[in-house]
Amino acid sequence: MGERSMPSGAFASTIPIADLRHRASVPRVPDRPAPATGRLTDRLGRPLRDLRISVTDRCNFRCSYCMPKDVFDRDYAFLPQSSLLSFEEITRLARMFVGHGVRKIRLTGGEPTLRRHLETLVGMLAELRTVEGEPLDLTLTTNGSVLTKKAQALADAGLKRITVSLDALDDTIFRAMNDVDFPVADVLAGIDAALAAGLAPLKVNMVVKRGTNDGEIVPMARWFRENYGAAVVLRFIEYMDVGETNGWRMDHVLPSAAVIDRLADVFPLEPLDAHYGGETAERWRYVDGGGEIGVVSSVTQAFCRDCNRARLSTEGKLYLCLFATQGHDLRHLLREARASDEQIGGVLAEIWAQRGDRYSELRGAGKPQADGGARKVEMHYIGG
Ligand code: SAM
Ligand code: SF4
Ligand code: SF4
Repeated sequence: MGERSMPSGAFASTIPIADLRHRASVPRVPDRPAPATGRLTDRLGRPLRDLRISVTDRCNFRCSYCMPKDVFDRDYAFLPQSSLLSFEEITRLARMFVGHGVRKIRLTGGEPTLRRHLETLVGMLAELRTVEGEPLDLTLTTNGSVLTKKAQALADAGLKRITVSLDALDDTIFRAMNDVDFPVADVLAGIDAALAAGLAPLKVNMVVKRGTNDGEIVPMARWFRENYGAAVVLRFIEYMDVGETNGWRMDHVLPSAAVIDRLADVFPLEPLDAHYGGETAERWRYVDGGGEIGVVSSVTQAFCRDCNRARLSTEGKLYLCLFATQGHDLRHLLREARASDEQIGGVLAEIWAQRGDRYSELRGAGKPQADGGARKVEMHYIGG
């Protein structure tokens, strides 16, 4: 095992080369950190509004597009408990992000509901207030597998909304996609439990993989519009080239435009305006009033221009893009450098000010990626 040092802009770096998950620079603490104003912008003028926090790198599913079984097998070294940020550390960092303008926090993973006592963290984050004095838009993305047991406690703790991932209604297809033989009925029961706990409207995310589950597009739409109407917003996600392990190929991507065409043939649709700038999904509604759907076209229509999202990994590394090859080690500031809130806030401001990430836009334009050749971080580690 070796280490090498590499300069990275204003930040001194120590990069362990044995495990690329840990490729991260140690941020330099500014001598005189500027106070947080809530109005940070990056090099492309994008504000910081949305923080996604991965609370565990573990998962009870092995979706082939995210954690393929042959890589994430029983020998795979997941992070030890001591590496994970504690709830106090997460909340402390979240407070600083909120001071810089974050209004929305999404808990993710891995499978976030596997993190023990997650509702305690939800309760701690629910206490935070935006710079405008409002409660946060606090949400969670989950595979839904344990929601029948946990939805009520999460809602009671202050969770506002929830997104459940579900790739098929057909039990055989669903069991094959999660690759652990998990039945679809249990996820559907989880969705019902979340709605009963008041987590409505609820989003359901379906990653569409051409040739695997694209035959489920119309059945999924029919099921949710007929049984749930406006209480569930189904969103079709283009299969993305995140990480390095899923064997992604462009011909496995079904463009969102084709998804809309297939649906509109059966259920006439009309476009809706975005709720807010930087929204990832393009919104549509059924003309007959049967509710709303969305498409997330990360591959065919990059939305980097408005991307206001930061991601905090399970062990406290900050990533500025889903396709980043390197993080910024905030846990080091908390644990080893014992930096003050003011200092860490100053570091966040410097890091965001230097952000120029726009991976999907460059990929769409056929341009070489900035960090050509380096490995991208895995999605279960930084969260979706
Ligand atoms: N385990 C939780 C879940 O599945 O909802 C949260 C973490 S998961 C990484 C977050 C989201 O990323 C899920 O909706 C999942 O379907 C999506 N996802 C994972 N890999 C993807 C890929 N290659 N392309 C598109 N979406 C992906
Ligand atoms: Fe687990 Fe979610 Fe990744 Fe599927 S998408 S393997 S449920 S983390
Ligand atoms: Fe944001 Fe990176 Fe996705 Fe572009 S590619 S939208 S910068 S996360």
